[in-house]
Amino acid sequence: MRFAIFGDIHSNLEALNAILADAAAHGVTHYACLGDIVGYAANPAECLEIVRALECPVVQGNHDEQACAGDDLSGFNPLAQQAIDWTRSQLTDDQKAWLRNLKFVRQVRDFTIVHATLDTPHRWGYVFNQLDAEASFNYQHTQICFYGHTHTPRAYIRDGMVRGQPFESLLIEPGKKYFINVGSVGQPRDGDWHCSYCLYCPEEKEVVLRRLEYDIFTTQDKILAAGLPQKLADRLALGK
Ligand code: ZN
Repeated sequence: MRFAIFGDIHSNLEALNAILADAAAHGVTHYACLGDIVGYAANPAECLEIVRALECPVVQGNHDEQACAGDDLSGFNPLAQQAIDWTRSQLTDDQKAWLRNLKFVRQVRDFTIVHATLDTPHRWGYVFNQLDAEASFNYQHTQICFYGHTHTPRAYIRDGMVRGQPFESLLIEPGKKYFINVGSVGQPRDGDWHCSYCLYCPEEKEVVLRRLEYDIFTTQDKILAAGLPQKLADRLALGK
């Protein structure tokens, strides 16, 4: 059994296709999605239908929540707001209902998935440091939890104290807890434009970060063709 754990797709179809092809090539048998399927780029409906067709565990992200909400856009910056207004116009009622029914936290086999934090998953706080991670660990009942939201791959490990580190692969060791950010499929923000997700093998207790090229020019062209802000296209190449 091998999982692909992925999230923060943000309507980037080319990046989503790239990670799914890579997952298939690596013998992935199961999937889990950390939310923010929509928002920012130009293929919200297509990305939603691909994730829905995987019939895998999915948790709700803040952009998913806003895309299916009425018109309360509190907390979103103008760029995100513009993208969400457009995204709403692209989704059917059925697709919005599917987003609305996603849970905030799910347990999958021996791990947990959440978009933002485990202590207050519906408030969309960001885990940027040891203190933030500590708060989530207090609510983590499995050895591993995968999360997204910051769009930056990072592993927090609790072994007496909590430390955070970038990672490429991790062996899950007994007696320790892991809060692992798998990075973003569709809009990485760690200065690297390559799309990001993780492979996880429960038998081998190994987590591997994957960074991949994708057809970024097509994604950028579609963002501009849709009339979305130029900045949303530019930032993809900068990885921020
Ligand atoms: Zn996101």
